[in-house]
Amino acid sequence: MEQESLKKEMKNRRLPLIPLRGLTVFPYMVLHFDVGRERSINALEEAMVNDQLIFLASQREAEVNLPNPEDFYQVGTISKIKQMLKLPGDTIRVLVEGINRARIKEIHQEEPYFMVEVEEENYETEITTDRDIEALMRSVLGSFEQYIEVSNKISPEILLTVSEIEMPGRMADTIAANINLKQSQKQEILEAFSPKERLETLYRILLEEIEILEIEQKINSRVKKQINKVQKEYYLREQLKAIQKELGEDEGIVEEVDEFKQKLQKIKFPKDIHEKVEREIDRLLKLSPSSAETGVIRNYIDWVLNLPWNKETKDKLDLKQSAEILNEDHYGLEKVKERILEYLAIRQLAKSMKGPILCLVGPPGVGKTSIAKSIARALNRKFVRMSLGGVRDEAEIRGHRRTYVGAIPGRIISSMRQVGTKNPVFLLDEIDKLASDFRGDPASALLEVLDPEQNADFTDHFLEMPFNLSKVMFVTTANSLDTIPRPLLDRMEVIRIAGYTEEEKLNIASKYLLPKQVKEHGLDEKTVKLSENTLRDIINYYTRESGVRNLERQIANICRKTAKKIIEDKVSVVRINPKTLKKYLGNPIYRYELINAKDEVGIVRGLAWTPVGGDTLSIEVTPMKGSGKLVLTGQLGDVMKESAKAGISYIRSRAEALKIDANFHTDLDIHIHIPEGAIPKDGPSAGIAMATAVISALTNVPVDKQVAMTGEITLRGRVLPIGGVKEKVLAAKRAGITKVLLPQDNEKDIEDIPENVRRKIQFFFVSHMDQVLGHALKRGENNEN
Ligand code: ADP
Repeated sequence: MEQESLKKEMKNRRLPLIPLRGLTVFPYMVLHFDVGRERSINALEEAMVNDQLIFLASQREAEVNLPNPEDFYQVGTISKIKQMLKLPGDTIRVLVEGINRARIKEIHQEEPYFMVEVEEENYETEITTDRDIEALMRSVLGSFEQYIEVSNKISPEILLTVSEIEMPGRMADTIAANINLKQSQKQEILEAFSPKERLETLYRILLEEIEILEIEQKINSRVKKQINKVQKEYYLREQLKAIQKELGEDEGIVEEVDEFKQKLQKIKFPKDIHEKVEREIDRLLKLSPSSAETGVIRNYIDWVLNLPWNKETKDKLDLKQSAEILNEDHYGLEKVKERILEYLAIRQLAKSMKGPILCLVGPPGVGKTSIAKSIARALNRKFVRMSLGGVRDEAEIRGHRRTYVGAIPGRIISSMRQVGTKNPVFLLDEIDKLASDFRGDPASALLEVLDPEQNADFTDHFLEMPFNLSKVMFVTTANSLDTIPRPLLDRMEVIRIAGYTEEEKLNIASKYLLPKQVKEHGLDEKTVKLSENTLRDIINYYTRESGVRNLERQIANICRKTAKKIIEDKVSVVRINPKTLKKYLGNPIYRYELINAKDEVGIVRGLAWTPVGGDTLSIEVTPMKGSGKLVLTGQLGDVMKESAKAGISYIRSRAEALKIDANFHTDLDIHIHIPEGAIPKDGPSAGIAMATAVISALTNVPVDKQVAMTGEITLRGRVLPIGGVKEKVLAAKRAGITKVLLPQDNEKDIEDIPENVRRKIQFFFVSHMDQVLGHALKRGENNEN
């Protein structure tokens, strides 16, 4: 405990007490309040016949009418009555000034008024020389200034008054009296007798309040922005209407109503809905054409009448032709096409589109959207796409109620209107990016959309009538399955589209993307010539992705520049080879780490999976004299760090067999670094690579530069299977690796790897670290360095 620098002295007094409701009086504060309760009036009278001093203590709960002693706080304020005014009824308005805080010691009587013995603590009121208090005063003053700024409710002049106060306790009381606080907070300040403690309490409360006010302000400005936008549009529309009225253009309302009614007749609604719409149409006649409501109703009718209630296209279910169309639009993807044809076959047999919903999962640009489009084409259905990325508000799916100014239906209904038939292929893009927050859960709304049991009468908040979505064929896409809400996932049939290999990309580029872009840029195939090697260079050095989206963009880039060249330079053929490529696309954007020049100690090539395909990781380890710290640097995630620790534990348990000094974990610091961390990596699959690098560094045995590896490690040195084998192997090949170590349990994944890649790489399937070390470490060869 610090020594309180101000001297204190105690003093007792006997005073009548008034319990206050919802008020706290601070010393130096002048305020008035009304007194009506009998005991309080008696107390007042008693005070007036004596020295006009009264003790004011706040009630814990304002509602209590006849408080007992335990209903008010023990600490209150001795106050001076300055004025009294009789009001109509039995109420008296009193003006008081707070004199000093005091604590109730004893209650002498409760009737006819409370008489209490209170104890004051008086502190020397001289100006302080205590540095701590001085500093506290400044901090409090600073935060009070900030509070005034954010709260916007207090006149800044108070700051001036407060800043002139030199007594610490008084400063705290004056500030407390002037800010908006909860009763409990005020009481807390009141109960701080020592000036220092009081300043500290106030300071903490001020900081909390500032934080809350700032958040409040942020929310306000966000809401205000939204409202401003809606209002602006609304006023503009109103103005437009006023102008139209001036120009006499609003007389057509009768014809408009007729037109609406004719349209309504054509749509065969059930009786109740027909009547509902008709009622709305009739209301148009009753309202002033320029009223805001007319606009709302007209908008509503317009939506209702223009939805495809009955319009549908006739399905074409011809599997042979469907297969042709899928092939026409896409290279490769054999398994995917097969699954889609099966799916269509089942639908054809069952003569319905009910059943699980297709979910195409894969990285961006692998053709998910374009496959969905092909399905639509194959079935002779129309196609509509809606992105769910970042949709966090249920109203985006299901619409806003009509009571909102500027309300419109949700995006499902909007898309249905846009596509114009009730049986389109409806692509829900990025279902894994669906968010949810306080505005409701869009996933559950979506579930209703996708559920064949419920979607026959999907009700949008705006339309307020069921719309039949049961004929829609929904197809969804996602980049990964992890973030798809479970109930949604359960409804879906997942088809995975992995990334493409360089060979596949090359084929897609030359057979699909290039011809397509050439045509779109008004060129023809004879005028642009791109050699195979040029395409390869574009794939490897100008894009890094699993799909072909950027590849297509780069090809479009080339086509654009070619078109310009043809016009400007009047040439008839443009040939682009790897050497001239730079002129079109600039310097290469990506480089790949190639295999090391020689076998090195403490450096191992790991293999990683990233959303844009595989990559190799060069893992470097350096042991240093130290105290057993494990230092990890590079862009590593938490799982990767855990996995490094597991590796170290394994090495410790096997130190002897590995010929490593048993004390390495107390005498050395081990630094593991993974350079080139453009893409953050995480996952357990670098486990064996990290362990191998550490063992190599500790035993001074070099690692075979031809080897790359991936696999999770357990504490006992077992090697567990990992994912993304295909991508990882492709990355290894690109780096020039010839030997790849994979977990035994991943042997089955080798089928997915294209034949030409398999031929160039030797695979070793391992189930234990001993085997890993056997393949990777070059024991006894050149470990003299
Ligand atoms: P996603 O929806 O998966 O992000 P897109 O369907 O938008 O990808 O595909 C991007 C582009 O690549 C489209 O122009 C598409 O036609 C083309 N594309 C993707 N895969 C193939 C393929 N296998 N064959 C031909 N073109 C493809």
